[in-house]
Amino acid sequence: MHHKKVLACVASSLCLCSAQVQAWGAVGHELVGSIAEQLLAGTPAAEKVHKIIGMDLSQAAVWADCAKGVNPVNGEFVYYSSPRFKECRQFESDEGKARMIDYVRRNWDACQPTASEEACHKQYHYADVAIQQPKYAAGLAGTSDHDIVAAINAATLVLEGKPAPAPFSIVDQREAILMLAHYLGDIHEPMHIGSVYLDNEGKEINPSREQLDPTTGTKGGNDIDFHGPSLHYVWDDVAKDIDPQHPDPAWVAEAKAIKPSAGNVLTWSTQWADDSLLQAKKAFDGVSFSHVAVHSHPWSANYPDNYVEMKAAIQHEQLVKAGAHLAQLLAAVVK
Ligand SMILES: [Zn+2]
Repeated sequence: MHHKKVLACVASSLCLCSAQVQAWGAVGHELVGSIAEQLLAGTPAAEKVHKIIGMDLSQAAVWADCAKGVNPVNGEFVYYSSPRFKECRQFESDEGKARMIDYVRRNWDACQPTASEEACHKQYHYADVAIQQPKYAAGLAGTSDHDIVAAINAATLVLEGKPAPAPFSIVDQREAILMLAHYLGDIHEPMHIGSVYLDNEGKEINPSREQLDPTTGTKGGNDIDFHGPSLHYVWDDVAKDIDPQHPDPAWVAEAKAIKPSAGNVLTWSTQWADDSLLQAKKAFDGVSFSHVAVHSHPWSANYPDNYVEMKAAIQHEQLVKAGAHLAQLLAAVVK
């Protein structure tokens, strides 16, 4: 889930509504993991990865969202299991729950979230770069030293045997791979990188970080209606006919044909964010906004014809890239 939708429930004793929307949905994340598995099959990196995490990448890909089920209750971190999230059951042994609780405790507030921001580990899943920007760059509004670009680099550093930079706390290579298996999916989801900031008339603005008025943000599309669900949800939601355990061979072939990203591995997350930002521009192309609340979203919007078809085509492209890039990153750093 993206951003602040859990605010309404923090006052209740158990945060039952956390992790309501899983980014890409579990299916999208599992598919990314499955594609990466097929690309890595038979390589030393695959063997090493499986030894470190004790599961395959498709299973690992949902862990960071499942960990959002951990929240403080009367000063103690507690994992609440939602029966709706079947994909999280694999992590709900006593040991599995203890690991999620430990991760969330260590990654809760070291980033010093402001009143309008969520816990640190939840912020690791996205950035909110204004779509007018040509590229992702540190220092822009909607970026931080603990956004998704930084999170991927922090986990990569741990796999290279170096310490994770603050505010990240990554306890071992296992945790680093679990994080990457998820974030590689998220960074390719256009709504996790590009965002619109809107003035009161619904006109798109391009704020600097210093002049950012939080009320102009749209939370990666979570605040924008799409005929009932949020625009963010619609982009996370993948085609119903996708079987994440058996990726379409044509998609796997497309992933195999994707060239490894260029340069040092620590520049890759920025390159992927740049690309997702371009996709986000397409996702907002021709969309107009008005500050009329609808279906509990503060913004309503008009969409061009064929929006759903355009979305499906971009999702296909991005899921394939995510699988390829996850395989390439692990092959490069798991030695
Ligand atoms: Zn996520």
